[in-house]
Amino acid sequence: MRKTLVVGNWKMNGGLDANEALLKALADAAASFEGVDVSVCVPFPYLFQPAMLLENTPITWGAQNVSEHLIGAYTGEVCAAMLREFSCKFVLVGHSERRSLYGEGDETVARKFIAAQKVGIVPILCVGETLAEREAHATESVVGRQLDKVIELAGIVALENSVVAYEPVWAIGTGKTATAEQAQAVHQFIRNRIASHNSGLAAKLLILYGGSVKASNAAQLLIMPDVDGGLIGGASLIAEDFLAICRAGVKVA
Ligand code: PEP
Repeated sequence: MRKTLVVGNWKMNGGLDANEALLKALADAAASFEGVDVSVCVPFPYLFQPAMLLENTPITWGAQNVSEHLIGAYTGEVCAAMLREFSCKFVLVGHSERRSLYGEGDETVARKFIAAQKVGIVPILCVGETLAEREAHATESVVGRQLDKVIELAGIVALENSVVAYEPVWAIGTGKTATAEQAQAVHQFIRNRIASHNSGLAAKLLILYGGSVKASNAAQLLIMPDVDGGLIGGASLIAEDFLAICRAGVKVA
């Protein structure tokens, strides 16, 4: 039985006061999404805020990026051991904005995945196709390639301590959500791909959907058999919207 996981990705948004209000609102409402695991991935400078404000709550937190290097002369980078000091549970790797805007390729993403796991942080591996790739019927080959590089470099067993997030690039921040059937088809493909290496691991793997998830469409996505939760961008910045998505997870759990 897989427990539903809802993760907020604040992206490069927020500020001290707004974050505090948002985190306090989530903490105050934690009882209303009991049965669902909830986490928030915040910008690096603000990691101390969830570490302080969520410490005695069931809500966990994480970061949105991590260096593939462990320590040293990498100006501007943040390594996994630093994230560990702020008690991060998760870190996003391979978000499509990192892949497209910062040129992170499959190998770099796999190395970040490995670096996170080295210090016990659970990587959330983001995969997904662009609109052109979907229209060229290349969704499975793109998502398969993104997964395979991690399996090749980290080993299939490493997937055990990870989460996969399917985020079609054409649905991120665009207001266009994949239909529940489109999401389910790719989630099933991902699970089958992993199962071809290790079926027990595949059955336990959490696969989140991300891409314009809102309170109004969350339940229909979360009800799908291979959709184990959501990675939520824009809607995670507004307490009531994010809470409504978390509560939709309770209804289908
Ligand atoms: C994301 O950034 O991971 C995301 C899914 O964004 P949005 O929900 O805004 O589409």
